[in-house]
Amino acid sequence: MQRADLIIVGGGMAGLTLATALADSPLKLIVIDEKLPFMSLTSTPQTRVSAINQASEGFLRQLGIWQKLDEQRIQPYTHMQVWEQDSFARINFDRHSLNHTHLGHIIENQLLINTLWERLLEAPNVQLEVGSPIVELYTDDRRAGVTLANQQRFEAQLVVGTDGIHSPIRKRAAMALSFADYQQTAIVANVRTELPHQQCARQVFTPQGPLAFLPMADPHLCSIVWSQDTPCAQALMQQNAEHFTRSLYRAFDARLGHCQLESDRMAFPLVMRYARQWLKHRVVLAGDAAHSIHPLAGQGANLGLKDSKMLAEVLLSLAENGEDLSHHRALRTYERSRKAEAVRMIAAMQGFRSLFAGHHPVKKLLRGVGLSAVDSMPLVKDKMMREAAGL
Ligand SMILES: Cc1cc2nc3c(=O)[nH]c(=O)nc-3n(C[C@H](O)[C@H](O)[C@H](O)COP(=O)(O)OP(=O)(O)OC[C@H]3O[C@@H](n4cnc5c(N)ncnc54)[C@H](O)[C@@H]3O)c2cc1C
Repeated sequence: MQRADLIIVGGGMAGLTLATALADSPLKLIVIDEKLPFMSLTSTPQTRVSAINQASEGFLRQLGIWQKLDEQRIQPYTHMQVWEQDSFARINFDRHSLNHTHLGHIIENQLLINTLWERLLEAPNVQLEVGSPIVELYTDDRRAGVTLANQQRFEAQLVVGTDGIHSPIRKRAAMALSFADYQQTAIVANVRTELPHQQCARQVFTPQGPLAFLPMADPHLCSIVWSQDTPCAQALMQQNAEHFTRSLYRAFDARLGHCQLESDRMAFPLVMRYARQWLKHRVVLAGDAAHSIHPLAGQGANLGLKDSKMLAEVLLSLAENGEDLSHHRALRTYERSRKAEAVRMIAAMQGFRSLFAGHHPVKKLLRGVGLSAVDSMPLVKDKMMREAAGL
């Protein structure tokens, strides 16, 4: 049996940023993952990327992580174009809305995870346990503990579940979950484009779902996130590379010219989930374990980083005051605040999806008129951009 103050189960972006925010603190932490989060990168960019907003950038800077990211692999974007296929509905955003040099960055998930991991290897108060999944969670009045498949056991004052959408911690703690199948699947791939992306993130809404082209560090390389009704996505996954890129070219209104696949395609079924309870006894959730949303606005990881930031602040303050880390009132403040933002974001994604759903000509006309009107209202656009930037 090994003891610590805090156990973090899940070494994805949420878990590792939480651990980094508590690194070098008086708290002893154990971070557990069923696999090694670190993976050596080759010069070929990874397929899984995230649009990281200004709030997340600020937090990662504060942790000293942003400064360590390989600049050659991250791409700032300075403007965004959103439009509807076969319609005049469109809206454009640029960095002036935020009075900043950029709106956000496209970053390979693995790059961020590796940088966090390397930082944690240096932290004397952090023990990293990888390679075996947790198979048991138990709690009582004095402690919470987990057992791994390899029979190792760990105990602490509090267990944090940052173990992703299927969160074994959430399930084992029997924390209630609301979910709704979006009935869409996101196809992700890297695509070489004939025309340069010019640091612009683009998204087109098609009748079957949104298609985003996110600019990568190479000016002719984009990461696509193509969310389609699941049967259409399955058909697209079956197409050969040439057929697929032709479909892509058409769906994207040929905005960046001809496309060529530079990676395998990956498919992610999309399900909205939020835990109705983020806190139970000595267990608390953060990141995708607590919420998962449609990727159309690229906010899932950003929400998770904000969870980690606030949870770290609450835990550090409890530790400073000599309180137990499972202090109910303090953790309830975290739960209430972060849950409210996650629910707001889920509702906003639903609103976007409903706005662009259906191709009735009248609805399409209203969308066109409405979006074009918003496009000419700088104050409304600034507010939307500040919200997306997490500011
Ligand atoms: C197609 C797509 C595009 C997206 N684009 C964006 C974007 O542009 N911007 C953005 O902000 N977000 C985006 N997201 C969301 C983002 O990818 C997720 O929100 C984020 O990766 C979740 O991180 P996490 O650390 O919470 O969970 P995860 O990354 O899922 O990490 C969970 C960890 O827990 C570990 N684990 C699981 N089970 C066990 C167990 N039994 N024992 C031990 N360890 C375990 C796993 O190995 C894993 O390392 C996108 C999502 C999708 C699907």
